[in-house]
Amino acid sequence: MSSNSSSDAVAVAKAVASCRLVKQQRRRLAAFDFDHTIVSQNTDTVVRDLLPTEVTSARAHELVENDCWTEYMGEVFRLLHEQQVPEARIRDTIRGIPEVPGFVRLIKHLAKRMQFDLIIISDSNSVFIEEWLRAHNLADCFLAVFTNPAEFDATGRLVVRAHHQQSDCKLSASNLCKGRVLEHFVIEQDLRRSIRYDHVFYVGDGNNDICPVLRQRACDFACARSGFAMEKHLLRNRSKLKLRAQLLVWKSGFDLMDQMLALPQLQTQAPNPNPNPNLGTVGDGGGPEDGQAEMARRASAAASAGQAKSPN
Ligand SMILES: [Mg+2]
Ligand SMILES: [Zn+2]
Repeated sequence: MSSNSSSDAVAVAKAVASCRLVKQQRRRLAAFDFDHTIVSQNTDTVVRDLLPTEVTSARAHELVENDCWTEYMGEVFRLLHEQQVPEARIRDTIRGIPEVPGFVRLIKHLAKRMQFDLIIISDSNSVFIEEWLRAHNLADCFLAVFTNPAEFDATGRLVVRAHHQQSDCKLSASNLCKGRVLEHFVIEQDLRRSIRYDHVFYVGDGNNDICPVLRQRACDFACARSGFAMEKHLLRNRSKLKLRAQLLVWKSGFDLMDQMLALPQLQTQAPNPNPNPNLGTVGDGGGPEDGQAEMARRASAAASAGQAKSPN
């Protein structure tokens, strides 16, 4: 045996061993919008209102009229910097936005008591969301925050970039397709961590929350804020939209928590860690073939999910 093939054999053995260490887990996911869902206002407009009313620019008008919201906010942040509104004032303003009643409690309960995985998918920006979460002791409740990345530069100006650029999804803005983000997250969790979600809850209020819920499965839950655009749009176009997920309409975090706790699907404690007997050998005594077959199965599942509009 050449030294090459023996090192190959070691590499294969290591790969198989690491594969077998990852046991499949079944969990639950809740994905949240931020503005008007977790916080009671729109973080962007609250900060924009720090500008004196007479301060604006031709560029700002042009951008807002052409629906370039992220670029528009970039221009607003430039004007705030020009007006010498300091970073601390912007951060204080964000921290002072009240929660939608019951959401701090709901998030803590889901994360700490019910072992949900939680994420945020928002068209606000990373500075605002992280600031608010830290101020409310919620930062460690979320696995990930998907939003437009932002930072204060060396001169103290807030700079924001688009989360991504897309033109495939007509329901979503070019800088953020929340449906794509949610799908990618679910696939990544499966491929990288062997985590499958028995139920996905998507909680939102606005028109940009329609795309993700239309990609949900029948075992998932679309949670729309009562009286807001998402609920109105879903109810008005119910037959046309073919929403597969169950619709939960909520008025507050307290109300949503009551509705979730009453769901028969959430009555069982920790979901069965290994409900599929075919996968039983992975992680507990299966041979190398089992691990490889499982990896191949997942890779092909992910590949087909990537092609289809909806993996579910
Ligand atoms: Mg919203
Ligand atoms: Zn979309």
